[in-house]
Amino acid sequence: MAAQDYYSILEVPKTAGPDEIKKAFRKKAAALHPDNKDTGDETKFKELVAAYEVLSDENKKALYDRYGEDGLKRGGGGSGSASYGSDFDMSAFSDLGEIFEYFFGGNFRGGQGRARGGPQRGADLRFDMELDFQEAVFGVEKKITIKHQRSCSTCHGSGAAPGSNSVTCNSCGGHGQVRQTTSTLFGQFSQITVCPGCQGEGSKVEKACESCSGKGLLRKERTLELKIPAGVDTGSRIRVTGEGDSGKKGAGVGDLYVIVHVRQHEKFIRENTTIHIKQPISMSMAALGGDMLVDTVGGKRLLKIPSGTQAGTVITMRSEGVPFLSHPEKRGDQLVHLFIETPTKLSDEEKELYAKLAELRGEKLTVPESERPQSSSGKEGKHDKDKDKEKDKSIFDAIAGVFKGKSHEE
Ligand SMILES: [Zn+2]
Ligand SMILES: [Zn+2]
Repeated sequence: MAAQDYYSILEVPKTAGPDEIKKAFRKKAAALHPDNKDTGDETKFKELVAAYEVLSDENKKALYDRYGEDGLKRGGGGSGSASYGSDFDMSAFSDLGEIFEYFFGGNFRGGQGRARGGPQRGADLRFDMELDFQEAVFGVEKKITIKHQRSCSTCHGSGAAPGSNSVTCNSCGGHGQVRQTTSTLFGQFSQITVCPGCQGEGSKVEKACESCSGKGLLRKERTLELKIPAGVDTGSRIRVTGEGDSGKKGAGVGDLYVIVHVRQHEKFIRENTTIHIKQPISMSMAALGGDMLVDTVGGKRLLKIPSGTQAGTVITMRSEGVPFLSHPEKRGDQLVHLFIETPTKLSDEEKELYAKLAELRGEKLTVPESERPQSSSGKEGKHDKDKDKEKDKSIFDAIAGVFKGKSHEE
């Protein structure tokens, strides 16, 4: 996004203060977030995030005001990295709740605190959760136990033994960062880097805390109750804010990402919000019509079969599919793929009736000797019938294969 003006993206004047910038961001973020069905726009949302990252940071904003984007690339990054996409303060999102992130590649916050000097933000954690087909469709409450790094209670995260003090790092005077000014052909550039004396922490410990070996953090177990919303699918990601690892010395806490995996169902095949089911019907039902009970995720439902139903007919049962994640009151459809079951074991009486029916309808069951082609042997007929059966079967299986494939996409 080379020629983008961050002020116009946020629609604020250059004189805007931090509060005005934050307010503008929240307003626009709510509108552009991909979760927003009406005005959501992932590309614009990411641009907005990029603009906000710069304008909400005093140092970056100053560099941007003076040198534009070039200034940011030259002077801003702690480790000399030109990427600002990885260090974004999500606290601005608190009003959007736990954002469903199945839209994002997940890289917009990937490297925790990489570009900024000072103590590093805690790591994000991943938890893989398997759900039953029905649980994913209707939502479920799940208890999970995770282990994350939390502040050591002995030293309150300082890493210093009780009675021992943290001493201010004298290389950086406790800032955790050192500023280096370089003169170049294009002017002077200030570069802020992580203090090598204290690794950006601003202080050093006199005597290490024994509980945590001076790390300030301990691994702790935690049980969480999660509300999984209706309509999640394999690959859906739920972010639980603040349940990742704690950062050192009170630096930001990472988030927990719950990745959903949905088990396959023996009857239903899911394609986003649509559910497919294969339903056998008898020849009589196909010919005469009637009604029957068909399985749906919500239980058995009455389905009307019209007379003269052909093999391969698909009947739509409205709103018997999966709820939309963003609009749970709305549901997709269930598509019923009908196939006609031909009876295989007939009693003598049944045979007679079928024969009579064929006679009534003037259906010829054999080709008279005089009309048969020379090479015909009857063997071919059987062969063709098998082929048709195979074809019928393979159409549904092909559909099933496609949907199973889709549900694995992330
Ligand atoms: Zn400790
Ligand atoms: Zn230092």
